[in-house]
Formats: sequence, C-alpha cells, structure tokens
Amino acid sequence: MSKDNQMKKLEEKIKKCQRCPLGQLRTHPVPGSGSYDARIMFVGEAPGYWEDQKGLPFVGRAGRILDELLEEIGLKREDVYITNIVKCRPPGNRDPTEEEIKACSPYLDKQIDLIRPKIIVPLGRHSMAYILRKFGFVPEPISKIHGNVFEAHTLFGKILIVPVYHPAVALYKPALKKELQMDFKTLKEILNDIES
Ligand code: URA
Repeated sequence: MSKDNQMKKLEEKIKKCQRCPLGQLRTHPVPGSGSYDARIMFVGEAPGYWEDQKGLPFVGRAGRILDELLEEIGLKREDVYITNIVKCRPPGNRDPTEEEIKACSPYLDKQIDLIRPKIIVPLGRHSMAYILRKFGFVPEPISKIHGNVFEAHTLFGKILIVPVYHPAVALYKPALKKELQMDFKTLKEILNDIES
C-alpha cells in the first residue's frame, strides 16, 4: 500500500477511535495536517477548543503564532506536517493524562514511521518529554534545552529532534517569542544544510 493510502487509513482509524474516554467527549478528532512527504514534523500536545471544532491542529491563537513563525523562515503549512501527541481535546484544555497518552501515542509513532521526517520539532514540554524519551534521551527542562539538536538513529536513518517552546508562550510571556524566533532560525539553518 502506498504511503498516502496508509496515512489516510490511519487518519480514518483515528477518526473512529474510542481507545480512551476522550473519544466520547470530542467534537472532532484531530489526526494532523500537512504533507505526508514533509521533512519536518511539528508535534504539539493536544487539540484545544478551535482544533476540536474544526478537526485541524493549531488553528486557534497558538496556531496563528505557529503560522507566523513558519512564515518568517519561508515555510507554509503545506510544506510541513503538524500533529499532536493526543488526537482528541481534553476537557477544558487540561493536560492529557498518562493513560490518554499511552492510548493515543501509537498513532503518533505510526505517523513518524510513515512520514519518516528528517526533523521532529516537539512544541512545548509535554511533547518534548514524549519525543525525547521515545528516542532514548532523558528530558530536561525546556528552558534549558529549547533550540538544542538531538540526533536520533532509527531504522530508516537519522532524525534530528529540536524541541522548542510551545507557540502559546508567546501569548502570555512575550519575551519568550524572541527565543521561539531564534529557534525557528536554527530550524531553517538545519533544513538548508539537509538540502545542500
Ligand atoms: N496546542 C496544541 O498543543 N495543539 C494544538 O493543536 C493546538 C494548541
């Protein structure tokens, strides 16, 4: 089966998923969006209100910041793949529980296996902790390691992991927006290196 078909099949599975109680609470599941051939994959935590309404990741206020950051480095949503660890909205935007992450994360693992990105960018500390552990690294505070590059070796080659702050921090801690902008510049440099 082609990668496109496998991704579509996976998205259909996510849309019907009832592996955890969030399946009963969601308006729409949010499998992810963007290019199945993306070299760069962004991973947030879980859908919020607007994502749940629209079935798309990062379409609320944090999403507008993410769009701005992408635009500043010459990328569009269609060039990248954007998803979350948990695909359905936790009520009141609370953090997802360990059980919800355990039930849902195999979908993210499969998306990574199918897309085979060159770079994974965890957005925020929860995603950073999941992705770093998955590839055998020990998570540290995001304030310490944002913008650092972790080199993971997988069966299908090297993946660079570059954790950054969650875009929503720019809304409540404007000083951290500069840090995000600088880390996105690092991403652009890595992408340029990969392409050359
Ligand atoms: N925050 C996230 O972590 N994910 C989204 O999709 C939206 C906001």
